[in-house]
Amino acid sequence: MRQITHFISGQAQAGRAERFGDIYNPNTGEVQAQVPLASAAELDEAVQAALLAQPDWAGVNPQRRARIMFKFKELVETHMDELAMLLSCEHGKVLADAKGDIQRGLEVIEFACGIPHLLKGEYTQSAGPGLDVFSTRQPLGVVAGITPFNFPAMIPMWMFGIAIACGNAFILKPSEKDPSVPVRLAELMLEAGLPEGVLNVVHGDKIAVDAILAHADIKAVSFVGSSDIAHYTYMTGTANGKRVQAMGGAKNHGIIMPDADMEQTVADFAGAAFGSAGERCMALPVAVPVGKQTADEFVARMQETLSTLKIGISTDPDAHYGPVVTQAHRERITDYIQMGVDEGAELLVDGRGLTLQGHEKGFFIGPSLFDHVKADMQTYRDEIFGPVLQIVRAESLEEATRLPSQHQYGNGVAIFTRNGLAAREFADKVNVGMVGVNVPIPVPLAYHSFGGWKRSAFGDANQHGTEGVRFFTKIKTVTQRWPTGELADQSFIIPTMN
Ligand code: NAD
Repeated sequence: MRQITHFISGQAQAGRAERFGDIYNPNTGEVQAQVPLASAAELDEAVQAALLAQPDWAGVNPQRRARIMFKFKELVETHMDELAMLLSCEHGKVLADAKGDIQRGLEVIEFACGIPHLLKGEYTQSAGPGLDVFSTRQPLGVVAGITPFNFPAMIPMWMFGIAIACGNAFILKPSEKDPSVPVRLAELMLEAGLPEGVLNVVHGDKIAVDAILAHADIKAVSFVGSSDIAHYTYMTGTANGKRVQAMGGAKNHGIIMPDADMEQTVADFAGAAFGSAGERCMALPVAVPVGKQTADEFVARMQETLSTLKIGISTDPDAHYGPVVTQAHRERITDYIQMGVDEGAELLVDGRGLTLQGHEKGFFIGPSLFDHVKADMQTYRDEIFGPVLQIVRAESLEEATRLPSQHQYGNGVAIFTRNGLAAREFADKVNVGMVGVNVPIPVPLAYHSFGGWKRSAFGDANQHGTEGVRFFTKIKTVTQRWPTGELADQSFIIPTMN
């Protein structure tokens, strides 16, 4: 059985905690590897390695740090096929989508290549007689990232790409469900020239997470995962004096106005609700058609489209989506489908019971479509995180806007319309962090920043973009005057500019 290892101080390290997790191939349902689950002592080893490496790394000038990022980008591109295959066979997303996962992470690395510019501070000359003021952004020291299973390449790169370029040393605790790609990324960073100890990967579960949150030498924690754990991470980390950004779950709505381009909208929903088997925090699992005619047309076309979807093994180039990540997750989704039926929603397409010939033990689940879902149903309130699209009918744009605005999650939302004014009003008023106008998955580009509202994110700082640089640095402001030989007046009051 393949043993996955920690990556500490540039070395592969077998786990010594005698605790292991199984890594499945979701296409076959078989265990393909084992991952060690770290103890607090193993986590501390990684922190010690990072503490040792960080001061020198912070002393490397930003342009040289950027060159390592450039080289890393080149190496990831060279290894794209290998990484995508590894990712696809642990996560279950199809190969093209696995490449998209890696590519979106690389875009943050490209942004981080601009770090010499991004770290430039501000300067005021002659703020007073002979007095200059300047500010610089300095790294925090050792920082950590805790990542979810659903983007095992992109989200680690969101975090370590920026943190390391800023001069920090990084401890990555990837998802214990698909940890191989994060380790390969760390190996490629080393190959790109990153000094040992600057990027360390420690696998684990709650024990490792708690050790990170309690460790006095970890100054900031970036978390992405489900909302309850995000909230826990935020509360515990901040109580321990750390800077924390913690992104949580989502339930994104797509509002369909009567004037929408219906053919395009249905195609957009098919991809955004069912792509990656719905395991995306920016998936679009709720459709809100405005008016009966819009709803009826959307339902008819969506049913037709779903009958053409191909669910296959993740390496099948014709598959629209592959299996979900684990059997437990598959069961959770089918339980939600049953709950939807019990709550009185109308199940138009039932994805349960799909088996793939030759892959009967794989974690496959067909697409499901619910109509007449109501806002008070638990299946509407909760995040299902599977290939399930729920239709909540609305009578007006106002009613449609209230749904995402009042929902506990506020990650992403989209509106499909040809009416610029309606779209503008909607984008302005809706109580959600990321808005798409005729864009079903409005994930901001790397040089903007990513983050939802309400229970989709805890803490003030978004991921990547200049927000990411701010999160992983602290400002130092220097006020300086050089002796002129003349004695300044002695003063016992606070200096002012009067
Ligand atoms: P998860 O919350 O189960 O796991 C996330 C991380 O937390 C993992 O590293 C895991 O090991 C750790 N963890 C799990 N249980 C823990 C516990 N009890 N105590 C401490 N740490 C624990 O999430 P997941 O299932 O891996 O990922 C899917 C979730 O992530 C979905 O809710 C999805 O919406 C969300 N997500 C959010 C964003 C975003 O940016 N808002 C992006 C991607 C995924």
